[in-house]
Order: sequence, then structure tokens, then C-alpha cells
Amino acid sequence: MDHSVSCARLYVLHVGGFRLPRNSVAPGALNGAEPVYMPIYCYLIQHPTHGNILVDTGQGYDKPTPAGVGGPEDSVVAKLGELGLTPDDIDYVILSHMHLDHAGEMSRFPRSTFVVRREELRAAWWPEKCEGGYVYDQYKDTRDYTYIQVPDNVDYDLFMDGSVILVDTHGHSRGHQSVAVRLRNTGRALLICDAASLRENLERSLLPGVCTDNWRALESLEKIRRYERGGYRLFFMHDPDVEYRLSPRYYD
Ligand SMILES: [Zn+2]
Repeated sequence: MDHSVSCARLYVLHVGGFRLPRNSVAPGALNGAEPVYMPIYCYLIQHPTHGNILVDTGQGYDKPTPAGVGGPEDSVVAKLGELGLTPDDIDYVILSHMHLDHAGEMSRFPRSTFVVRREELRAAWWPEKCEGGYVYDQYKDTRDYTYIQVPDNVDYDLFMDGSVILVDTHGHSRGHQSVAVRLRNTGRALLICDAASLRENLERSLLPGVCTDNWRALESLEKIRRYERGGYRLFFMHDPDVEYRLSPRYYD
């Protein structure tokens, strides 16, 4: 197997955010009760052989979500437009999971191939009563889209070349996954998504909000710490205190 392939570019797309107490994504956070603005990021990976890969779609602005901050100009489609791309240019959409601030604009990508864990699809289409965070209206028209259903409980080498690895980090939701990418100059990066919304989740072992499985969520935090110790650069999706090189700039 060839493990030498690198992704060409990684863009961090700032697609609005939400105003909530830190406790909502990290119960027990320091000063966690007062509402603060937390960003939502999506990621665009430009792959040398597999095209444009979007990670998550943000919240939908046609039907604003509770506590959401932003408007159509902040949507993932608008941010892609600033790079000269339309939804039809997106070959793959990897969904970390299908909560409302990640699956909000799924229906804007009917020609893309979606990459989602098997259990996550089942949770989204038929959640248990205790599983919040899914908004059926956001994806009710996507049933006939093309899906790669990623097997559960394994780390999955999407293109069999080591360039994009889907890392099992379930616990926050039934089928949550993070995304490990290899960049030529930046090195290895882990797009954590909601397995640890803030650095504080990692540093103080705080659960990433309401979880489907608390024990697995804590194991996923330890797994992410192992990735960081192993040299991965971590990208947090909702941390207002970590700064990134935002699109149109990129990591290569
Ligand atoms: Zn979530």
C-alpha cells in the first residue's frame, strides 16, 4: 500500500456560529455558564487525485437553528463560492455526524458522494428518544443521495492510500468520526469535529456535550490525545480561543 500521498490543501471555512454557554459543549467548563460566541468550521480538502472533499456542511440558514449566529452570507455554499466553487464541484462530503450544526446544508450537495458511518445514518433517520441534536427537516430530501456507509468501530482509510483516514471517535453520537489528513508542509492534521469541541474538553476530560455513550466519548478523548502525542496538529471545530488560518488562506 502506498502511504506517500498528501492532500494538496486544507481550507478552514468559518460558517457562522452559535451563542451558548460553554457548558453546552463541555459540561463543567471554567466560567461555563455565561453564553459566548462559538464558531462553526467546515473544512475543504483539495486532494490531488480525488478532487474536492468537504467535511461537514454547517448549520442551515434557510431555517435558522436555535442559538445560531449568522446568515446566508456565512453558509458553506457562500464560503465555497468565495473560492470559485459551486456545490457541483464537491466530489465527496464527509459528515463527522449529522447533528444540526453539521448536516444543515446537506441538501445543497445532491451530486456529491456522502461519507457517513452506518450507525450515524440510522441514528439520524431513527433516533432514540434520548438522542437529541438531529433535525430531520434538514436532510429529509437526501434519502436517495449517494452514500458510502463507513463501517462502525474501525479507522477507515478512505482512498486506500493513507491520505484521508476516517477515525472512529464515537460516543458524542452513535457514529461520530474525525478526519485525519496528511499535508506536505503542515504535516499530519486531525479534524476532531465534535469529539472534543474545545481544547478544554481534552485538557480536563470534559464530555463533549450531551453524549450517546459517555464512556466511549471519554475513550475518544484519550484517543485524540494519543494522536496529538503522535505528532498530529489538532483542529477544533467550535473553540473560540484557538485561531486558524481561515479561507481563502489554506494549509498545505
Ligand atoms: Zn454534535
